[in-house]
Amino acid sequence: MIIKISNKTSKEETSKLLEFLLKKGIKYTKNDYLNSQAIIIEDNHFINNELIEAFPNLEMFSNDKYVLVSRAFQKEDSVINFAGRENIGKDFKIIAGPCSVETPKIMEEIAEKLTSLGINIIRGGTYKPRTSPYDFQGQKSQGLKILFETSKKYNIASVSEILDYNLIEEYDKYVDAYQVGARNMQNYELLRELGSKTKKPIILKRGPSATIDEWLMSAEYIMLGGNENIILCERGLKTISDKTRNTLDLSSVIALKELTHLPIIVDPSHGSGRRDMVRALSLASYVVGANGVLIETHPEPEKSLSDPFQAIDFEELERLVNEINKLKTIL
Ligand code: PEP
Ligand code: MN
Repeated sequence: MIIKISNKTSKEETSKLLEFLLKKGIKYTKNDYLNSQAIIIEDNHFINNELIEAFPNLEMFSNDKYVLVSRAFQKEDSVINFAGRENIGKDFKIIAGPCSVETPKIMEEIAEKLTSLGINIIRGGTYKPRTSPYDFQGQKSQGLKILFETSKKYNIASVSEILDYNLIEEYDKYVDAYQVGARNMQNYELLRELGSKTKKPIILKRGPSATIDEWLMSAEYIMLGGNENIILCERGLKTISDKTRNTLDLSSVIALKELTHLPIIVDPSHGSGRRDMVRALSLASYVVGANGVLIETHPEPEKSLSDPFQAIDFEELERLVNEINKLKTIL
């Protein structure tokens, strides 16, 4: 159970509570989260009921599987800052870049296009989670360095997926934000370590067969560790649909807005696996209230080192940006 001590809680009530816990010999930890304090007590049903009775005015979360990330814990929307350059959580934002970091020249071409379109966050995979061990596995350290150089040169923020918590120190030097991929949504050690070892934003993708509650519990692991800068990313589910790589669950955005204060973005590239669907699904993401999209783009999409079928070219990206801007004037 978690007890929230906000600035509305009186000092007297707080000391009464701490005295109560001490008297009962209840072990707890106290930590700051989202401008409040949280007293965390490991589940004990009997004690929980007694506490709720003794302190009816305190905000307590007794049977909840996730608390800190919930709308009940914080009513206002969280806004996440990327390296002082961009905020996610207010206006609709676009994050774009190749599936995998490629040559410095290609990365610069992409960054140039992004900045000309007002896109300030570049994505690019470096340590790649590939289904087949024979597929391109990413440029690893070298990729991180290329991404870093590109983002510095164009003064934009960068994001790359991390697979292994032993690499947090290395990533922290080169990227402005982390991505936890769909395959790792339930890698709890990775989530815990990203929670405690970095304050940089974490884009937490939804597992291909994860429920919304499971996804939020994963976000809770990160926040409990101390990193509040979390962005959820819907990227589609495994379903019987055989004409797309994944089925993009746009209804999850609407459901999540009620359940959590965290920003939610959508990845229509992995969500469909098809470049002909990316623009329309991006517009649809805007309509359902997403805070942005994460898109794969490449100057010559069919030559992408990974995911060549879903990357869009610059012309399509520009069309997408223009159409989103048009939508912004009417919705
Ligand atoms: C990616 O963003 O390139 C990626 C591997 O995504 P996902 O984890 O959603 O499959
Ligand atoms: Mn990809």
